[in-house]
Parts: sequence; C-alpha cells; structure tokens
Amino acid sequence: MGTKGKVIKCKAAIAWEAGKPLSIEEVEVAPPKAHEVRVQIIAASVCRSDTYVINPAFKEGLLPVILGHECAGIVESVGPGVNNFKPGDKVIPLYVPHCRKCKFCQSPLTNFCTKFSEHKNPIIEQELMDDKTSRFTCKGKSIYHFLGISAFSQYTVVKDINLAKIDDDANLKRVCLIGCGFSTGYGAAINDAKVTPGSTCAVFGLGGVGLSAVIGCKTAGASRIIAVDINSDKFAKAKALGATDCLNPRELNKPVQDVIVEMTNGGVDFAIDCAGGSEVMKATVDCTTVGWGSCTFVGVNVNDKGLTISPVELILGRTLRGSSFGGWDVDTVPKLVSDYKNGKFNLEALVTHTLPFEKINEALDLLKQGKRWVYFQHLSVENIYAWQSADARRSQQLHQ
Ligand code: NAD
Ligand code: ZN
Repeated sequence: MGTKGKVIKCKAAIAWEAGKPLSIEEVEVAPPKAHEVRVQIIAASVCRSDTYVINPAFKEGLLPVILGHECAGIVESVGPGVNNFKPGDKVIPLYVPHCRKCKFCQSPLTNFCTKFSEHKNPIIEQELMDDKTSRFTCKGKSIYHFLGISAFSQYTVVKDINLAKIDDDANLKRVCLIGCGFSTGYGAAINDAKVTPGSTCAVFGLGGVGLSAVIGCKTAGASRIIAVDINSDKFAKAKALGATDCLNPRELNKPVQDVIVEMTNGGVDFAIDCAGGSEVMKATVDCTTVGWGSCTFVGVNVNDKGLTISPVELILGRTLRGSSFGGWDVDTVPKLVSDYKNGKFNLEALVTHTLPFEKINEALDLLKQGKRWVYFQHLSVENIYAWQSADARRSQQLHQ
C-alpha cells in the first residue's frame, strides 16, 4: 500500500510571519500534478537566500511559506506526463529550470531557461506551481512554495524541469550542497570565469559560495588565489582549500584593490565577487589587470544600486560577466555528483554543523552570526531517518 496518489502528512518548517522563527508543523502535501514530482527530502542545508524572504525589510515575500532550496532527496511518486523520473530515483532539485526547448536551453552558452528568465523576480514567481496553486496545506491554509523547491519539508513537490537525477549511490547528506552554494561558486570559477592554469585570481567574500569559488580556482590550476573577506575568521578555511594569500580590507591602510594590484604586478587575471554590493563590485573590477582582466559577479545585495563604470576600464581590455548557479543545469549537475564521488573536490570541508531537522531555527541563527567561528554558513540540516520513522509510527498510532 503505497502513498502514490494520496495526500502525505509530514513535518515541515513553516515561516508564518517575517522576523519570527520558523515553526515545525504537520503539513499535507498533495500528490504531484502533470509534470510534477513528489520528493522525500533526505538532507538540506541553509543558504543566505532563504533568509531574504523572512527579513522584515524585504517586502515582496509571500507568506506563509516553506523555505529551503539546497537539498537532495528520493522520488516518492510522479505526476502524469513525467517520463524521466521514477519512484526511488535519487534527485537534486534546482531552482534553475531547464525546459530543453527554449532558445537558451538549446544554447551551450548559458544555463538560463525562458521559464526562469521571463520572471522579473524568480523568488516570487516560483512560490506557486504552474497552475497557480500550492501543493502544501497546513491547518486548512494554503502554504507557498519557495524558489520552486521548499526543502524544509520531509516531502515536497517540484516541477520535473527543476530536477536533476543523480547516481543511485550518491551520498545525499553531502551532495545536497550541490543544490546551490557549492555549484554556484565552483561553477563561477570553472564555467563562467573559465580560470586558466597558472593564472592569478582574487575571490571576494568567503561564505559558502566564495570558498567554493576558491576550490574552483584551485581545481582549474590557478597559481595564486587571493582570498578577501572582512571577517578574518574565514581565512584558515580559505587557506586549507587553496587560497595562497588572505586580505581583510578593514585591516589595510589603503583600498584592497590597490594592495592586490601591487601584490600581482598590475592586477590579477581573474576576479570573482562572491559578496555583492557596489564597493566589492568596484574592487573586483579595479583589482584585475588591464589587457585581459576578467571579472565575474556572483554576489547579490538586494538594496544596492550596483556599479558605475567608466568605458575606459573596459576599453583597456577588461571583461565583465555575471554568473547564475555557476552555469550548471539539470543536465550537468549529475556530472558534478560523479566528480564528487571520484574525489575531484571535497564537500566535507564546507560543512560546519550537522543538526537534526527540529533545530532548523538554530541553523538559521548560526547563518546570521557571520562573526562566529562559522566559516561556512550553509549548514547541513539532516532529516534524520530514525526521527522520521519514529514520528511516522506515532502518527500511525494516532490515526488508528
Ligand atoms: P555568506 O553570507 O555566507 O558569505 C558572504 C561573505 O562575504 C561573508 O563571509 C562576509 O563576511 C563577506 N563580506 C561581506 N562584505 C564584504 C566586503 N565588503 N568585502 C569582502 N567580503 C565581504 O553568503 P553566501 O551564501 O556565500 O553567498 C554569497 C553571495 O552570493 C550572496 O550575496 C548570495 O545572495 C549570492 N548568491 C548568488 C548566487 C548566484 O547564482 N549568482 C547563488 C547563491 C548565492
Ligand atoms: Zn528553457
């Protein structure tokens, strides 16, 4: 007697109000409709973007919502028209869709898809499924999805174009980091900046994304990797992952870009902004060499006006580009999972804390305390099997 076609009752962390802790509740998860897949989430981690919607300063988020977008799980059932997934498949949901039909999906130059780029604000647009309804209900109320994923629930429903099928033997408690932070930074270096062997690089911001960019630069064979953060606590980890030099702009007596230019005889070949904001964007441009300096922008600062740039900076040979989800999509993420299994990079080093699902608010608090010894702020929040099954037994007893 399976659960296919039935409503599943399970636990989810609900954000009822901005600025308040999440509350773990029993939710009803409806069966998947056409081109949707219901997924049991096995592991999830928290990312800075999860906190934007519940920040009282961010007025656009729709509540109540189930947050979370960095996760890995197992297909429970599929809706009509889903041909490429079956129950039992291991998957990573991605907030970037891949319809395979639009001009972007058919181009090797981008991971954009019309289904994503047509939205003015992808966070808001992915709060409901395509039929403009939600699959989550709690206490009779409909609950919004988040970024099309809603990882902070034991079960969720995701569109089939937002799902990557991965190896059957993948370690879900590790590869959940591939769902956002790791892939974003690593891919920004490898796919978008296209860092070359022997080159010099600067990475600004050493959160989960920036440390992953350091891993990317190192994997690409960079000879010098200058890691920059206003929090010096991040430097030991950055060095362990491949940074050759670390700079704290708050401890220098001149702009960090001037120091980098001096250290590198005229500027680095590649600079990657993983912090965001106009100050860091400017430093990213100014620290690259004329002639061929390449700047890649990853960081997002919601209320910031961005960069004013003189044409001369570009005429002298610099190039600027942005990077979204590191250039990966549902077709290329499975290869990243195999690369991890084959030891091409280390995800263990990026996990600072492993917590049970009930402690989700503790995980969000740790994320906010950047000043603490939390060098990686994407925390692994495991949905522990033992807890789940004990809970399921209790719920069965209640319903007998
Ligand atoms: P995080 O908060 O964990 O890390 C940001 C780091 O930047 C912190 O260590 C902080 O101390 C440092 N920092 C802040 N101001 C700085 C400054 N002026 N100079 C140098 N360092 C500074 O965040 P994260 O999860 O690693 O994400 C990094 C950024 O990437 C965020 O803006 C996030 O929204 C963005 N992001 C972009 C994409 C994308 O696809 N483009 C995807 C995920 C996240
Ligand atoms: Zn597309």
